[in-house]
Amino acid sequence: MKIAIVYDNTAFRKDLRPDWGFACVVEDDDRHTILFDTGANGAILLANMEQMHIDPGDIEEVFISHGHFDHTGGLPAFLGVYPDVKVYCPESFRKVRSAREIVTVEDSPAQIHDNVFSTGELEGIEQSMVVLTKKGVVLVVGCSHPRMSHILKAASRFGEMYAIVGGMHGFRDYELFRGIRHICPTHCTLHIDEIRSSFPDAYTPGGAGRVLEF
Ligand SMILES: [Zn+2]
Ligand SMILES: [Zn+2]
Repeated sequence: MKIAIVYDNTAFRKDLRPDWGFACVVEDDDRHTILFDTGANGAILLANMEQMHIDPGDIEEVFISHGHFDHTGGLPAFLGVYPDVKVYCPESFRKVRSAREIVTVEDSPAQIHDNVFSTGELEGIEQSMVVLTKKGVVLVVGCSHPRMSHILKAASRFGEMYAIVGGMHGFRDYELFRGIRHICPTHCTLHIDEIRSSFPDAYTPGGAGRVLEF
């Protein structure tokens, strides 16, 4: 599977525009293509995707982790041009109108494809994405507002944790990451340096333009 970070606070590639927010394009092993969050600004989202040669027309679903603006701000512009998608929203975010189909995810897991799931909305604020691979669970997180212990517990029900990518906010309980093979803390993650020094082999830098393959 592949994760292409198309929107992030920092830019990994100089030809992409950094902006506070997060979005990535997830392609699973069956080649289903899902947009995880949309950043804050639709013009930046679409421009970065174009620069990375990602065709937004290939996107089948949009997965919204939570209702904060830096994850949903690009959605109206995206749907304005590509309305033929199914949007998975946590129950706490109910502002989507124009998509082909809207699925509200409550506090239990939901299946999106054979190998793609939502953890369910945790703590009434945020859902995370679980992608199953032969190596284990790849977990994509927006801001990790629910406690990381809670998110990891929900994700581990699907299998052994292999990789985690996304925003981790003030997460500091580093022991929870022991055994995870790839850790890409980006977007709002406050303690990137500490995570890097705790797990130098697993650490992977993020930023717009990064493409991770697992
Ligand atoms: Zn947030
Ligand atoms: Zn955020």
